[in-house]
Amino acid sequence: MKKIAFITGATSGIGYSVSKILAKDYALILCGRRELRLKNIKDELSKITEVYTLCYDIRDNESLNKSFESLPTEWKKVYILINNAGNAHGMDLIHEGRISDWDAMIDINVKGLLYVSKLIIPIMIKFNRGIIINLGSIAGKEVYPKGNVYCASKYAVDAITKGMQVDLNNYNIKVCSVNPGLVETEFALVRFKGDKEKANLVYDKIKPLTPDDVAEVIYFIINRPDNVNISDITIFPKNQASSTVINRE
Ligand code: NAP
Repeated sequence: MKKIAFITGATSGIGYSVSKILAKDYALILCGRRELRLKNIKDELSKITEVYTLCYDIRDNESLNKSFESLPTEWKKVYILINNAGNAHGMDLIHEGRISDWDAMIDINVKGLLYVSKLIIPIMIKFNRGIIINLGSIAGKEVYPKGNVYCASKYAVDAITKGMQVDLNNYNIKVCSVNPGLVETEFALVRFKGDKEKANLVYDKIKPLTPDDVAEVIYFIINRPDNVNISDITIFPKNQASSTVINRE
């Protein structure tokens, strides 16, 4: 059986693109909440590789553990973990933000990532091998106006990545943080709660990254020789220089 890649947030955007590119070489465990999307992606990628899907909310640790337990034993030997599930919820001044948005970002982007990692890392340690790729963001390197809690969640991902690198150094596990700028996915639509007009403004007059651009970088990282770990990488579209410096031609 092929080595196994476990991808969270596989139902859209970067996670879906990573699933497609890794299907060439790995068996896949694909996660997300949208059951129909998972089924359709499984139907598509099963033509290339073996696929299992786990449908659960990443905030629910019990549900994660139960669905993982239901996998056949050989499917539990995860080799690659792509900690990708996450979103921004809202974009407000700090004193005007909604508690429900703050809870969602901390619970999904930070605690959800930790729950999955807590489950998979001991398996990697047992088999003395593994690659973990955490999806951070430029928002985890620079705070921008109204980014406050989303930025905090991605700064946390950055710190967790560094913590993993330090703590897993003795266990033959590579850990990498991938930090994109603007990528055109469902991200802006989720952030603005389905408001297409606001979401489109995010990508107005620039050529953003595509999720496939990010997936190709992740594929490159995974395919470095055994002695090489790319520990941290930031990827911008050509017209972006920082969180706030964007040339809208
Ligand atoms: P996206 O298209 O909205 O995809 C987000 C994915 O996360 C979906 O598959 C979604 O699946 C999953 N997800 C969200 N909440 C979840 C939950 N509670 N439980 C389980 N799965 C959940 O956005 P994307 O741009 O690909 O984002 C992927 C990652 O890249 C995120 O961590 C994001 O912060 C990061 N990122 C994005 C950008 C950008 O500009 N797009 C830039 C920097 C970093 P379900 O809805 O099916 O659950």
